[in-house]
Amino acid sequence: MNLKVLILPGDGIGAEVTREAVRVLQTVARKFNHDLTLTEGLLGGVAIHKTGTPLPEETSKLALEADATLMGAVGLPEFDNAPPAQRPERGLLGIRKILGVFANLRPVRTYAALIDSSPLKNALVEGTDMIIVRELTGGIYYGTPRGISGEGDEERAVNTMAYTRAEIVRVTRMAFNLARARRRKVTSVDKSNVLENSQLWRRVVCEVAPEFPDVQLDHLLVDNAAMQLVLNPRRFDVLLTENMFGDILSDEGAVLAGSIGMLPSASIGDRKPSGAWVGLYEPVHGSAPDIAGQNKANPLGAIGSAAALLEYSFGLKREADAVSAAMEKVLNSGNVTADLRPKGTPATTEQVGQAVCAAIE
Ligand code: NAD
Repeated sequence: MNLKVLILPGDGIGAEVTREAVRVLQTVARKFNHDLTLTEGLLGGVAIHKTGTPLPEETSKLALEADATLMGAVGLPEFDNAPPAQRPERGLLGIRKILGVFANLRPVRTYAALIDSSPLKNALVEGTDMIIVRELTGGIYYGTPRGISGEGDEERAVNTMAYTRAEIVRVTRMAFNLARARRRKVTSVDKSNVLENSQLWRRVVCEVAPEFPDVQLDHLLVDNAAMQLVLNPRRFDVLLTENMFGDILSDEGAVLAGSIGMLPSASIGDRKPSGAWVGLYEPVHGSAPDIAGQNKANPLGAIGSAAALLEYSFGLKREADAVSAAMEKVLNSGNVTADLRPKGTPATTEQVGQAVCAAIE
């Protein structure tokens, strides 16, 4: 298979962890006989330095040409007080928009070697393996009318939670398709006891479900879902929800995994003419200025994002599984970065990347 991938290393540790994720992609391509065509673009603070804008036109063009995009992280402290349009983070929102990615996927799983890193009791989190599918382009973050008006006691603020049927259908199909490659269970999360918006959400999810008779569907109200995530996380396979509920629940899910450096994410759009799903893959963490340039960032979130790229954009499940198995082997060996609190001397970013590649070979 020909894999055309755009690499956007970004700022701080983004560049360091992406280097290791690329090393892993190259190893997988070699071992499984794929042609990997890599291009590299500028995004974030590094792009502002070199071109004056966080998302240069050239980067947008490269992203539209590639089958999938692997990103590091953006953000530099020197831009903390810059106006929003001139901040590195604006590049991130811009590239999501240009690619039209509408579903954010966050796999959450616990690794046996990291079970003590979770603040929750081992018996509760052990064996957790879920994907949170969060709708990314609609809901209360984008709905209109919105704004603050009036004065004094009459000052009021309004946000609007809006979804169209089409927006719900496409993300629901995405969740069911993912479930087919997993344990075949979708849990849709809403607040249909109170919100009309959620009533439409639930009705449309129920209408789509018969297209996937082999996948089981259940529903949870969001307050109960928040509780079940920490009481019984193993009950979830694919958790499907709207934008704001997903924003909140996915951070709760992140606690289950131990360190923020472990967490991958994928933002997915429609299919390209080539058959590949449009996808933007990045670790959940930021550019971590406090440890940037020290070769000590955990690259496993970025490497997990590369595994997600192989699976979701190219359907290469076997290759993605090989990366996950290699990551697990490295975790079990204890050859890990400082954030995972190893017993001996912490490994460097580069050493972890090399160890994952060696385990794949
Ligand atoms: P952060 O995720 O960069 O760092 C939070 C803490 O986690 C830090 O102590 C950091 O050292 C640690 N950490 C993060 N990733 C790690 C890794 N891979 N290995 C080991 N430790 C790791 O969040 P922040 O400090 O709030 O933000 C720093 C900058 O990153 C800001 O400019 C912010 O806007 C940006 N940011 C970007 C993204 C993105 O590009 N998607 C996401 C979040 C934050």
